[in-house]
Amino acid sequence: MIPNSFVEVVLPLPLGGTFTYSLPEAMAQQVSMGSRVIVPFGKRKFYTGIVTGFAPVAPREYQVKEVLHVLDRLPIVRHPQLKFWEWLADYYLCSIGDVYKAAIPSGLKIESETQMEVNPDFDAEDLGSLTEREVMVYQLLSTKGKLSAKDIEKETGFKSIPVLMQKMVEKGAAIISETLVEKFRAKKEKCVRVAFKRGDDEAMQAAFAAVKGAPKQEKLLMTLLQLSQFNNRNKLVTEVPQTLLLERSGVTSTILKAMVDKGLIERYTREISRFGMAEVECAALPQLSEAQQQALSDVHQAFRDKGIVLLHGVTSSGKTEVYAHAIDHVLRQGNQVLYLVPEIALTTQLTARLKEFFGNRLVVYHSKFSDNERVEIWNRLLHSNEPLVVVGARSAVFLPFAKLGLVVVDEEHDQSYKQFDPAPRYNARDSAIMLAHMHGAKTLLGSATPAIETYYKATTGKYGLVTLTERFQGAQIPRIEVIDLGKEWKKRVMRGSFSPRMIEAVGNAMTEGKQAIIFHNRRGFAPHALCRQCQYIPKCKYCDVSLTYHKASQSLVCHYCGTHYSYPETCPVCQSATIDVVGYGTERIEDEVEEIFQNRKVLRMDLDSTRNKSSYSDIIEQFSEHKSDILVGTQMVTKGLDFGNVSVVGVMNADALINYPDFRSNERAFNMLEQVSGRAGRREETGLVLVQTREPEHPIIKFVENHDYQGYYQHELAERQAYGYPPFTRLVYINLKHRNERELDNLALIYSTRLRELFGNRVYGPTKPPVARVQSMYLRQIMLKFELNASMKKIKDILRELQGSLNASNPAMRSMMLNYDVDPY
Ligand code: ADP
Ligand code: ZN
Ligand code: ZN
Repeated sequence: MIPNSFVEVVLPLPLGGTFTYSLPEAMAQQVSMGSRVIVPFGKRKFYTGIVTGFAPVAPREYQVKEVLHVLDRLPIVRHPQLKFWEWLADYYLCSIGDVYKAAIPSGLKIESETQMEVNPDFDAEDLGSLTEREVMVYQLLSTKGKLSAKDIEKETGFKSIPVLMQKMVEKGAAIISETLVEKFRAKKEKCVRVAFKRGDDEAMQAAFAAVKGAPKQEKLLMTLLQLSQFNNRNKLVTEVPQTLLLERSGVTSTILKAMVDKGLIERYTREISRFGMAEVECAALPQLSEAQQQALSDVHQAFRDKGIVLLHGVTSSGKTEVYAHAIDHVLRQGNQVLYLVPEIALTTQLTARLKEFFGNRLVVYHSKFSDNERVEIWNRLLHSNEPLVVVGARSAVFLPFAKLGLVVVDEEHDQSYKQFDPAPRYNARDSAIMLAHMHGAKTLLGSATPAIETYYKATTGKYGLVTLTERFQGAQIPRIEVIDLGKEWKKRVMRGSFSPRMIEAVGNAMTEGKQAIIFHNRRGFAPHALCRQCQYIPKCKYCDVSLTYHKASQSLVCHYCGTHYSYPETCPVCQSATIDVVGYGTERIEDEVEEIFQNRKVLRMDLDSTRNKSSYSDIIEQFSEHKSDILVGTQMVTKGLDFGNVSVVGVMNADALINYPDFRSNERAFNMLEQVSGRAGRREETGLVLVQTREPEHPIIKFVENHDYQGYYQHELAERQAYGYPPFTRLVYINLKHRNERELDNLALIYSTRLRELFGNRVYGPTKPPVARVQSMYLRQIMLKFELNASMKKIKDILRELQGSLNASNPAMRSMMLNYDVDPY
């Protein structure tokens, strides 16, 4: 037999395909599919790659390099994951390296540039666990701080630095640090145990004899035996943390040390979870209402012949409770569940509720988790086949599930499921459906406002469809009142951005001891500034957008690139002191609310007020405990929050939502308005929703007014059909970027002409997007519309080839950046 002396390796690079490396004979027995290897790439660079295949012969085209090290004997990804990666790369027109980069926590992949520093939690006492070279590197890091692999190599002259780094991280001596991201460190705890084995009575007696006459030592020994349940043969010996032993026995650590020195007690460290793994009591699942019970059995029924089912349930119908039962069913079969949510930070209420039912079997995969927390969850899934339910945002689809039985996609319509930048530009909902399919698992999609594509599939028989039309415990669907802003302005009765009716309704809620939510989808104080004299509008130097005024920093901010500018006292054009701010953002609305409803407590929830890890949950907690009366916020307040005491929801301005220039703007506007109104009156009384708009007759406003999902769907579907948009076609946007606008127009024209030769009238554009320059890069977009049954793999091959040949024949092409966005959202 010819030995497999070459391996195919995926690298975290945006280049197509895998790379072949030769495998030194000594390593041949050490690698498996899915193991990490460290390989050189380019000049003096190395990466952690993943083995995806073996080959007996080398490719002819190039000289292969050797694998430097094998990091794992056992795979760190599971076989179905690699298949899933390949599918993602093909479908979303990116490289498998892009997928790998997004999928694996950075603590598991060390590169030349990866920085390392000492772990402040590491105990100098434990230096003994390090090799001589590791100790040297440890000391180097202690004096120099953060160093990259290259630096360490330079300083020490050692080879195989990446392996050394990996080992030091595993031993807890060092941490991988990334800018802005928290650190990787295994959390450790000192434990103690008796030095003799259970059942070895002779040794135990000897130990007692040894402490005779030393009452403190005797006490310590007794306590340790007790805490570890040493003599309770029906139970496993429990691990005892050193702190617990000292606390319970009331004996000092000097005494403990004496006993360790005598060889009666042993000390060791164990890795502990950051997530509190202690066994917890689980509450019984919620008793379902009749309607919910019916929905659940309909879901199970539909799963008999459909892999995917849509649960279309109005807001507050208790979809979560139905999911919980479906999840429980799968866990009992010993399978795992992936529960996707659009933004995990907004789901503290949900996770708390699920935690009650599922206790330790619930794992939360949080986008704000540090890298080491991610690694820990990764490893937990990798090393166990236990039935678990993982709640997470889109990146949770990459976790190494062993045996997925069910995927739940909550609020499946939400656009945050789509990753916009960087590649892979994937939709986690659609990817999760594929993942489930690969595992032979079912997918349950849930929403009060299903995406047009989803509802289309559910009504044409591709997906099963289950509906839940009543709110839990008969709470009424909120009443919508539309306020014609144009009229109110004419009557001159507006108070800032508030109409009299809005003030009245919020005021009434306050006197009745209720709470209110004010929704406005624009952050900052005012969307732009303006010179009253010459109409000059301050814009970003690097982007084609006007600047938003932020009151807290008293500055003008670009929402595209984040640049701050000081607020001009005088107009830079006409020099007069007539610069003013125009329009409303959440900060300004918050100010107005404070002024109109004087002694009421107001909270604001938007990107600016929630930058810290815990700020979302703090705001949500305060508001649900009624420590505040009015919550002002952006779309964050529309997403699945459950506050029982909110009776009024105000939408300050629906126009910005309905007039966005994009084929999805109706869909987005309807979803947002319907979702935000779903926050009102979730318990006994009927809630009230006020929608301020200049276009009270706009069809979307009408549909929202009547909570008419069907009407909206038919209307929207007809438009999509008429103009050839999804679900009748599949869209691919090609985004082009260049520093020079004229050059970009040139190249975009050449490129689109070639595309037309290949794809004919499926090609539209190039067009200028609404914001046509961001961070000094000019932007153009070409749209491709494909038939639904077109092969993405073929399209990808054609596009790759085209790009290759254009780059070869026209060097200027290489200066244009280009990305593909499949199924844009
Ligand atoms: P949805 O996700 O459909 O908007 P939720 O699942 O948030 O609705 O349910 C709305 C509220 O009703 C929540 O506070 C939830 O706890 C409560 N609820 C729904 N169903 C039940 C049930 N079967 N038992 C107890 N409480 C329920
Ligand atoms: Zn001016
Ligand atoms: Zn900018």
